[in-house]
Amino acid sequence: MSASGPDMQVIVVGAGLAGLSTALRLSEAGASVLVLEAEAQVGGRARTLDVAGEPVDRGFQSLFTAYPATARMLDDIGLRKRDFVAFDRGAVVHDGTRWSRMGTSPRGTLGFEWFGAGDVARLARLGAEVAGAPVNALLSGDERQLQTIEYLMGMGFSDGAIEGFFRPLFGVVTADRALGSDAGYFRFLMKMLLRGRAVIPVEGHGMIASWAAARVEQLGGEVRCGARVQEIVTEADDRGTAVGVRVDGEVLPAGCVVVATEAPAARALLGDLDRQTARALDLERRGVTTLVYSLSSSFHSGRTIVLNGAPLAPGAGAGAGAGAGESAVRIDLVCQESNLLRPGMGEGARLLATCVHGDAGSPDGGALAAEMERLAGAWNPGFPWARVATLEDVVVHPWAQFAVPPGVRDDLPDAATGLENVFLAGDVTMHPSIEGAVASGERAAKVVAGYLARQPSAGG
Ligand SMILES: Cc1cc2nc3c(=O)[nH]c(=O)nc-3n(C[C@H](O)[C@H](O)[C@H](O)COP(=O)(O)OP(=O)(O)OC[C@H]3O[C@@H](n4cnc5c(N)ncnc54)[C@H](O)[C@@H]3O)c2cc1C
Repeated sequence: MSASGPDMQVIVVGAGLAGLSTALRLSEAGASVLVLEAEAQVGGRARTLDVAGEPVDRGFQSLFTAYPATARMLDDIGLRKRDFVAFDRGAVVHDGTRWSRMGTSPRGTLGFEWFGAGDVARLARLGAEVAGAPVNALLSGDERQLQTIEYLMGMGFSDGAIEGFFRPLFGVVTADRALGSDAGYFRFLMKMLLRGRAVIPVEGHGMIASWAAARVEQLGGEVRCGARVQEIVTEADDRGTAVGVRVDGEVLPAGCVVVATEAPAARALLGDLDRQTARALDLERRGVTTLVYSLSSSFHSGRTIVLNGAPLAPGAGAGAGAGAGESAVRIDLVCQESNLLRPGMGEGARLLATCVHGDAGSPDGGALAAEMERLAGAWNPGFPWARVATLEDVVVHPWAQFAVPPGVRDDLPDAATGLENVFLAGDVTMHPSIEGAVASGERAAKVVAGYLARQPSAGG
């Protein structure tokens, strides 16, 4: 690979998992890499907060150990099994009146009271099908033409299984209560769920990005935070070739540029330079708001998630916002994350409460906090929520994920753009997950390496 000289520097815009995955693979291949990140911290959507010296994720998320590209990256940056804590298998669901516990092993599903006749056998059949299929075959299979809800109904799952298990769980995993994501993506997620464990790094998800950035720097690259790229600068007479990027009014030269930002920022950067790719990034957002609490006394025990299985109002869908038939003020998932990250914290705890609001605007934080207090009373009567819970932060992710109804993944841009030396990474080029981000970085790095190898070396 020819990567010598400042003109052959690769600038990666964005230090989320996609940008860092790109930078890691390019640095390993000997390229000269500069990563520019607008925020003060690396990690993008998978950043971690510091609450009184303890790590707390900015939103509940879990990493599946079966994610293939992610497992490769974790290995290569030096994170090992001991650096992760696994959730208990399955989940606890509360439907407003009663608790149910769901396991994901065939035995664990047997006692789940939401399941009707035949659901355990259907789940076993689905599990066997996805276990035997390669990841790419699942993602590109014909099932992607169906919505998840259509696919589950087509398989014959009972209303109880859909409302008591699939909707509460996958409504949060895909940030879409309507289960409108394509069923190819759902089958991929099912494989990840069944084949490995759902885990969190011991210092929160931000640990992955911090370790990846450190590894890039060990390999000779640079990761610069607080550097927002304002525009991609092209040659005056050749709008198809980038010569650098502008940060704080100054042009930083680049032999090529990889845009690894979330969709709206990538659209803004590509804007007039490549309208076709910018248009392809015009996707529907799936928003999530997280309430971050400190508790002086523990709300729930165990390394589990608590799902809100209360029925949705008729007509409530993905957005579930104004006009969708239901107030967006709903807490969909609660996770006392400190049970995993700081099990020795004693009575004190940190808790994340998640509201999925699709493409509706974020609900008011005060209204969500009031709803959390109401739920706490319903779920755990007698628990003195108002006295023990302190709301530390309300984190709004307008772009937690993008919607992947049938057809959308087929039309996503890949690593190439209309400019010869500008490339794309990001979950938005694959699918809206940690794995989508990391795999997109691997793919972009390969395409960039091919481009660099075709360039004349700095010496002529
Ligand atoms: C609350 C929440 C829960 C989630 N749960 C899960 C889960 O359980 N499992 C799962 O697999 N996935 C989950 N996801 C999705 C997953 O986190 C994302 O798909 C993934 O992190 C996206 O990574 P990325 O690098 O593509 O984008 P991002 O993380 O968005 O990174 C883009 C980076 O670009 C930077 N940037 C933007 N514009 C500029 C600019 N002009 N100049 C410089 N830098 C710029 C941004 O600051 C950001 O750091 C969740 C996401 C959220 C928000």
